[in-house]
Amino acid sequence: MKYFLPDSQDLVDPSFDFERERRSATRLRQRDDLYAHEVFAERVLDGILVSKGIVDGSESAGGRYTLAQRHRLLRVGAREFFRIDRKSDVPIATMGDCGAFTYVKDQVPPYTVDEVIQFYVDCGFDYGISVDHVILAYSAEWDEPGAEVPAELRERQEITLELASEFFRRWKDERLPFEPLGVAQGWSPRSYARATQQLQKIGYRYIAVGGMVPLKTPEILAALGAIDSVRGKDTRLHLLGVTRTEQVQVFAQMGVKSFDSTSPLRQAFKDDKDNYHTMDRTYVAVRIPQVEGNPKLQKRISSGKVSQGKARELERTCLDGMRRFDAGELEVGVVLDSLQRYDELCGNLSDYRETYREVLTDRPWKQCSCDVCRKLGHHVILFRGAERNRRRGFHNTWVFYRRLARQLGGGTDQIAERTSPPPHARRTSAPEVFS
Ligand SMILES: [Zn+2]
Repeated sequence: MKYFLPDSQDLVDPSFDFERERRSATRLRQRDDLYAHEVFAERVLDGILVSKGIVDGSESAGGRYTLAQRHRLLRVGAREFFRIDRKSDVPIATMGDCGAFTYVKDQVPPYTVDEVIQFYVDCGFDYGISVDHVILAYSAEWDEPGAEVPAELRERQEITLELASEFFRRWKDERLPFEPLGVAQGWSPRSYARATQQLQKIGYRYIAVGGMVPLKTPEILAALGAIDSVRGKDTRLHLLGVTRTEQVQVFAQMGVKSFDSTSPLRQAFKDDKDNYHTMDRTYVAVRIPQVEGNPKLQKRISSGKVSQGKARELERTCLDGMRRFDAGELEVGVVLDSLQRYDELCGNLSDYRETYREVLTDRPWKQCSCDVCRKLGHHVILFRGAERNRRRGFHNTWVFYRRLARQLGGGTDQIAERTSPPPHARRTSAPEVFS
C-alpha cells in the first residue's frame, strides 16, 4: 500500500529561530525550505500527488504556486522540483491529477485532455490520472428499484468516462511515459461498479476512485465492495483523498494499492482538537496566537476592549510559561492559568483548560522520536504561526505513516509484494516501505 501526500507547497524554514521568532536573512525559500520528506531521516510517504488545479492556481480555489515556481516545475520536472532523488534509495513516486475539487462547481472540467497530458509530460510524473469531474452526492438508496438519480450526477459520470476514454487513447497512441489511471466517479455502490467496468473495458488496469472525501467508513466499504465484485484480477485501485483510514487493511483486501490523504497534515492546524497525533490517540495543540497575527484580537485592541500592551505581556507570559513548564520549572496549574487568561483576552469562547491539562500532563512530544519533536521540543505543541503548525503537521504525517504500517501488519516484504513499482523505478532492492 502506497501513501501519497498531496502537494500544497507546505514547506518549513530550517533557519527559523523559535526563541526569537526570526528567519535567517540569507534564506531563500525555494532553495532552503524543506518539504515533509526532507525533514525526516526516515521515510514518511511513498509518493507526492501534484494537482494541475493547485499548480495553475485558478482564482477560484487553492492556487499555491507563484508564476516562477510554476515555470520551474514545468521546466525541470517534478523529481527535481521536489528534490526527491537526493537521499532515498527507494524512489518516491510522483502522480499527477487535475485537482477536480478546484473546479467542482463548474459544469464541465476547465481542462482539455491535451492540456492535462502536456502537464503530466512536462512534469515527468510516474502516474497520470485522467481528467475527471467530482460527484459529491452519495446514497445507497439510489441503487433501489425506481429511485430517481439526479441527472447532473449521471452527466458527471458520463463526462468522466468520456474523458477517460480519450485520455487512454492518447496515452496509447503516443506511448506516453507514465502509467495512466482512469477515474471512477459514482453516487452509490452500483454506480461505482459500473464506472469501474467501463474503465476496465477502455483498458485501464489502475483505477482511481474519486468522491471519497466526504464518505464515512461504511460507505467507502460498500462502494469498494461493489467495485471489487467487478474488478479484474490485475486491476489495482487508488483512493483519491480519503480521510478515513481505520479500515486500511480491508481496503487492501479489496484491491487498494495506494491512496492519498492530506488530513494528518491539515489536522495539525485546521482541527478544533485533534492537532497532535500519537500512535494511539490525538491531542489538542496549545493555542498561543501572535498578538500581531490574530485578526480577532486586533479587532478587540482597535475597539479599545483590550490594551495592546496587556495582550503582549500575556502572550509573553504564556510562551515563557510553556518553556519553563517544559524544563520542569513550573507547575501545570500556573501555565493553565496564564493560557486561560490569554484565551479570554482573545475573546475565545471554547474552554480548552481540561484538554490542555491533559496534553501538558502527558507531554507526548517528549516521547516522540521523530526528528521534528526531538529538535523542536515543546514548540511542536504550540498552535502558533506556520513554522510550528506545519512542523506539527509533518510530525502527524510521520506518525500516520507508522500507524499505517502497524495496521497493515508491518511486514515490509508483504507490503512490497502488494505494491507494484512505478514504470521508471530505479530500485535495486525491495522497497523498505513502512519500515
Ligand atoms: Zn514527533
